[in-house]
Amino acid sequence: MHTISFTKHADITHFEIDGNELVVGGKRVSALAELAEGRPFYVYDHKIMQSKVELLRKHLPASVKLHYAIKANSMPEVVEFMSGLVDGLDVASARELNVAAKTNTPRDEISFAGPGKQPEELRAAIEHGIVINCESPTELKRIDEIARELSKKPLVAIRVNPDFQLQNSGMKMAGGPQQFGIDAETVPDVLESMKDMHLTFHGFHIFSGSQNLSHEAIIESQNKACELAERLAEFAPAPVRMLNIGGGLGVPYFPGEKPIDVAPIGKHMHALATSMKKRMPTAQLMIELGRFFVAESGVYICRITDKKVSREHTFLVCNGGLHHHLAASGNFGQILRKNYPVCIATQMTTSETTKASVVGPLCTPLDLLASKMDLANCDIDDLVAVFQSGAYGYSASPHYFLSHPSPREIFL
Ligand SMILES: *Cc1c(COP(=O)(O)O)cnc(C)c1O
Repeated sequence: MHTISFTKHADITHFEIDGNELVVGGKRVSALAELAEGRPFYVYDHKIMQSKVELLRKHLPASVKLHYAIKANSMPEVVEFMSGLVDGLDVASARELNVAAKTNTPRDEISFAGPGKQPEELRAAIEHGIVINCESPTELKRIDEIARELSKKPLVAIRVNPDFQLQNSGMKMAGGPQQFGIDAETVPDVLESMKDMHLTFHGFHIFSGSQNLSHEAIIESQNKACELAERLAEFAPAPVRMLNIGGGLGVPYFPGEKPIDVAPIGKHMHALATSMKKRMPTAQLMIELGRFFVAESGVYICRITDKKVSREHTFLVCNGGLHHHLAASGNFGQILRKNYPVCIATQMTTSETTKASVVGPLCTPLDLLASKMDLANCDIDDLVAVFQSGAYGYSASPHYFLSHPSPREIFL
């Protein structure tokens, strides 16, 4: 392994270099570019995904289940591989459900969350026998109706919009008014209404935020989720079988960010699991993670097709950009644009650098992969790498915007 240093970012230490080239999954980027037939591409190294799951398993108690939230990266090969490492999968649409259903994951370890599930999606979920994380009283009524029609008793968990927030979280998805889940204070009435419904109460889903690098914040949110579940369980029509306390573990993307320290989270979860065994003996604890497992395994690669200087500023114009990698362009929920870790993948040992901006082919100044970064001297035909791209890259980008070709995905 080789350390790729960025002046202000955390170092990337999980890839190799061969000659002047970046190597991913044992292949030089120039060879990978040929595999991609000249298109920009994402490449994912399975060994890095595996090491992230192993890291977490090493620290967490064996009794806590791990789920992979496949919206982070829903490439079928990735989902298939991840399904062999984790205990379950979380899906957010019928298409993701179809991908998950092709794996050997037990049906009651696939869960379906998300506001606005369509009646056809609920029907598919009930037919497959997966867990539905219910997001509203209307949805609960629809589930009951479809279940009666199909003469099936679906496993239904209540997604709770908690009365707390995950501090320092990159994306707030809980606390205050939200489109997600059912407000904690109205959950007792909803639980009461489930008593006469054609379904099996499965438990609670309490997700309080995403992309957090503070172990203190994660520990606090786990404690609060367990306390909330304990309070709500008193109103439940049956014992809580599954208690999903969310995830939220982040990865470093931007200058100054450091990897999250998993050891204290593991230590805390050992104590928490022991305490919950007494407080809620029927409840199986689980956490759900997307980016923590897959972000670091992926690199996005595109080619420099023009190099120009505009009023003393160097622009490296590439055949890929925002339409392939919205998050790296800074337009996926970021308030202040910051550079992802970017380097010239075919000039890895070139020490002379130039300050340059990496842009894509779109007719908008938003199409920016790196702004005024110190990059190795390079030219037309060199390849650009964007690291930390295995999550919310391909799956979260507007491929059709301006109708350029889509990127390829390579799983190694
Ligand atoms: C998106 C999402 C996740 C995954 O978030 P990551 O930041 O990728 O770990 C987990 N749970 C729910 C409910 C989500 O919506």
